[in-house]
Amino acid sequence: FAGDVAAPGVLTIDLAALTRNYLALRERLTPARTGAVVKADAYGLGAARVAPALYGAGCRDFFVAHLDEALALKPILAPDARLFVLNGLLPGAEEPCAAAGVIPVLNSLEQVANWSAAARVHGAELPAVLQVDTGMSRLGLAAAELARLAGDPGLRRDLRLLFLISHLASADEPESPQNADQLDAWRRAASAFPGLDLCFANSAGILLGASYHGMLARPGIALYGGVPAAGAAGVTSPVVRLEVRVIQTRTVPAGTRVGYGGSHVTAGAARLATLAAGYADGLPRHLGGRGAAYCGATRLPMVGRISMDSLTVDVTALPPGALGLGSLVEIIGPHQSLEEVAAAAETISYEILTRLGHRYQRRYR
Ligand code: PLP
Repeated sequence: FAGDVAAPGVLTIDLAALTRNYLALRERLTPARTGAVVKADAYGLGAARVAPALYGAGCRDFFVAHLDEALALKPILAPDARLFVLNGLLPGAEEPCAAAGVIPVLNSLEQVANWSAAARVHGAELPAVLQVDTGMSRLGLAAAELARLAGDPGLRRDLRLLFLISHLASADEPESPQNADQLDAWRRAASAFPGLDLCFANSAGILLGASYHGMLARPGIALYGGVPAAGAAGVTSPVVRLEVRVIQTRTVPAGTRVGYGGSHVTAGAARLATLAAGYADGLPRHLGGRGAAYCGATRLPMVGRISMDSLTVDVTALPPGALGLGSLVEIIGPHQSLEEVAAAAETISYEILTRLGHRYQRRYR
């Protein structure tokens, strides 16, 4: 009934830009292919809209973190789309995973054994991907475990291994020696399974060059318009625009306290606008006193602490009356990038995107 104004603001997700980003990354990868990481609801942007758009651009391999995420996407993607669960399989999850045709990334010998047993119950060979820990110490088989698996086919009975996967810990720092170390570890590990394809590069890994590409890349943030590494602005284009509504304006004298704790005190007479989004809408509390909204090119500093459902900006720089009840001001858009918001909050673009939540009105275009 209330249409647009029932929500705290408008989150616009540009699926055409997303598609262009996918194609731009693919261009860098030839002859390797690229899949897409759509975990955490496609970095908060809505996997149910993002994954089909990427499928339309030619993407056939989709990576999520949890089996639940894969089960939700399976019915909305065509049967030739493959869904991979990066976080592996917990005991008891094998049956729903096999029944849905979802492919687990197996991270330990125990998971290999459980999936292999599930294949026998299932009565058919099951596909699997093996993750190798090349130095991040997060998920995956150690090189010695991989070698054991390679040497004893009985351990992987009834499994059809599709490829090996590993993850780079420092790809966003191209100069880090950890990249080459992981590449070496990767090559050593992969030699245990000659002929098996390799899947190594995230967004920043793609930019490290062909030796990191393997046969299939797994970008996430660059698809969504984030800058994957220092100096990599412009590799892909912005996808997200966030505008938030004005819910009250006021003029205050010098010395007025603003927000919880009265942490901001106006230095002179000021005009303030209260905006309808707060930390429950993914705008970190840390932005208070550091971040800004924009009205056109005019910067409106966030003053005082961020509340759960609102925040205050100083709009003194605007002509009086420029912002009325319900006006939209920009938080992420042409005047302030996702990266700038993340920097002001002293965090990374991934955290901003994945926390935007579901209270904004979403417009896909
Ligand atoms: N692969 C794995 C295993 C990941 O955990 C992630 C993201 O966290 C990605 C790929 C995608 O990384 P990025 O968003 O930096 O491209």
